[in-house]
Amino acid sequence: MIEENLVRIRQRIGLACTKINKDSSRITLVAVTKNRTLEEIKAAIACGLKEIGENRVQEALLKYNELKQIPGLEWHLIGHLQTNKAKEAVKIFDLIHSVDSFKLAEEIDKQASKINKIQEVLIEVNVSGEESKFGIKPDELADLIKQISVLRSIKVKGLMTVAPIVVNPEEVRSIFKELRQLRDSIDASYILSMGMTDDFEVAIEEGAEIIRLGRAIFA
Ligand SMILES: *Cc1c(COP(=O)(O)O)cnc(C)c1O
Repeated sequence: MIEENLVRIRQRIGLACTKINKDSSRITLVAVTKNRTLEEIKAAIACGLKEIGENRVQEALLKYNELKQIPGLEWHLIGHLQTNKAKEAVKIFDLIHSVDSFKLAEEIDKQASKINKIQEVLIEVNVSGEESKFGIKPDELADLIKQISVLRSIKVKGLMTVAPIVVNPEEVRSIFKELRQLRDSIDASYILSMGMTDDFEVAIEEGAEIIRLGRAIFA
């Protein structure tokens, strides 16, 4: 089933990329494996997926320990990170998508420096302004990035957002557009992590480089 799902997903990524004249090899597909069993994850890896997205550190650690002998996997933390979990997070994650405060960035920097790592991160931006969402406000972004830039063991690679749940993905196009405009105003080389099962084509059309898919792959 995962294999058939992936064929369809790759076609849809290809179509969205064609619309904007982008090579589909420039889209990184993160398989969101939260709440999925080891067997499901191994099946996804057997289909060629290498990017693993988890939203809780504890759950990710358990899975990481079971899968770490498989070469070439990249681990993404896509959920909120509490400061007291930063120490564990820097041990396993290649990219942390959810930095949303200087306090958290400082702790990641401190823990990463202890293990001689430069931790790559994205800043999570709450573009939609929904109260329930994590992420910093768009107008706080430039200052946060400036503050983080003096830390030596954490490196900002781009921006991430989670769009609201809507019926028609066109309704969230403006959210993705706004994240891209923010990116363009700050650093054009930053990558954008945006787009999930219900809205990834629109996200790609608006400039996503990383899409995070759970249900589209596993359901
Ligand atoms: C669960 C989750 C996803 C994947 O959601 P689907 O709708 O299953 O594709 C992507 N990003 C984040 C931050 C998530 O928590």
